[in-house]
Amino acid sequence: MIAHIAIILVALVSSSESFQKLLLTRLVLRPSSASVACAPLSMSTTKVERNQNFAKLQAGYLFPEIARRRRAYLEQNPSAKIISLGKYSCIDVMRCDTTITTVHAMPSPLLFVGIGDTTMPIPPHILSGLAHGVSKLGTKEGYSGYGAEQGVTELREKIAAKLYNNLVQPDEVFVSDGAKCDISRLQLMFGSNVVSGVQDPSYPVYVDTSVMMGQTGSIDPALKQFSNIVYLPCNPGNNFFPDVRQSPRADVYYICSPNNPTGAVATRKQLEELVQFCKEVGSFIVFDAAYAPFIRTPDVPKSIYEIEGAKDVAIEVNSFSKYAGFTGVRLGWTIVPSGLKFSDGTPVRNDWNRVMTTAFNGASNIVQSGGLACLDDEGLQEIETLIDYYLQNAKLLKETFEGLGFDVYGGVDAPYVFVHMKGRNSWDCFSEILETIQVVTIPGAGFGPGGTEFLRMSAFAPRESCLEACERFKQMYKK
Ligand code: PLP
Repeated sequence: MIAHIAIILVALVSSSESFQKLLLTRLVLRPSSASVACAPLSMSTTKVERNQNFAKLQAGYLFPEIARRRRAYLEQNPSAKIISLGKYSCIDVMRCDTTITTVHAMPSPLLFVGIGDTTMPIPPHILSGLAHGVSKLGTKEGYSGYGAEQGVTELREKIAAKLYNNLVQPDEVFVSDGAKCDISRLQLMFGSNVVSGVQDPSYPVYVDTSVMMGQTGSIDPALKQFSNIVYLPCNPGNNFFPDVRQSPRADVYYICSPNNPTGAVATRKQLEELVQFCKEVGSFIVFDAAYAPFIRTPDVPKSIYEIEGAKDVAIEVNSFSKYAGFTGVRLGWTIVPSGLKFSDGTPVRNDWNRVMTTAFNGASNIVQSGGLACLDDEGLQEIETLIDYYLQNAKLLKETFEGLGFDVYGGVDAPYVFVHMKGRNSWDCFSEILETIQVVTIPGAGFGPGGTEFLRMSAFAPRESCLEACERFKQMYKK
């Protein structure tokens, strides 16, 4: 143990990249399971029983596997020189080094066009809001400690007015540290006796949190699906929106629009039918609108509450992450309508309030000050400009693949472009692209069996990386 600490300390002060790599390999890179990956090298066991729901989870989230393959490539191509790799921590590696945008390899640098993390800096007005939050803390008058767990009133009001046109009330808005965290806390509220329904493919957090909560049995290795989850097929045949009437009933439907990973957006009609169905069968919708500001096509709903009757069945999770480059800043919100009720008549909002006041302690006051700035006119304009930039990247990626003869989905009202690699496994395509043109994409298989034949391209990249990647794709796939 002491020897290991010594190795870590030496490595931390060492400028030798090879030594850091060796350490990294020993500490975090061997097993594919994220939870095991960060464990110390040797540790005696205890008498504490492992939560068996965690044992059911598959080998980590998608990104560790991508990171593993990227590393394997770099090991075989030792001349590759990684730049901007300041943070060689467990977390960075498990998140697939999202801080790395370029790796100088010969003959060409490694490019990332798959990762869903924002890359553009936070614009000035929004940044000034964050700075204002910081400086207030240095004054007697401005200092604040714990705040309301539900968020500051002004921000709740501003979200309701500016983003929902007062379709929701401020006391239905619960400010948080992000949509992912809220999805997990919603699962905590739903408990282990509900059946989740997920789009296939979908953002993996819906399935993994259902498994963690004990809602499921184990995975069927052939189907790659957990028992007691309703998987709703989404494919080009149904425009990537599920026909819920064709599948067994679920208690809670996780619906994401604009969708990660398919880039599809749900139409008004599709959402009307979904709401109608949920009212008929008495189910909830958890509507994930984290990419809502990417919607530019008129009459495509940005919120489920644009649909009549949705307040009787739907909860909406949302986030400033993709709006304003807040992926690291952390600020989101969840809308729980006051009239939404469980089968025994209890308002869902009461239980959600209990969760938020018990398992959460309020979003950071600094960050909420940034959130307020986001919703000023200047902030909203900055968000628009930021999103225009990413949408232009999406257009470039989409046009490139269309020009190469692929069937391409998404990329219009969404930052994701979903490319059909017909008849091929996306992991094979991922490796082939990495080895041939040193571009890192995201295999659709990581989002569920329905994504197996697709690659997800992300518009969250600097323009020059995006253009360079498009050129390389053209070289690789030209006929
Ligand atoms: N929901 C979807 C569909 C996402 O793709 C992501 C992040 O990639 C999130 C939620 C997470 O949002 P947040 O950063 O607010 O936790």
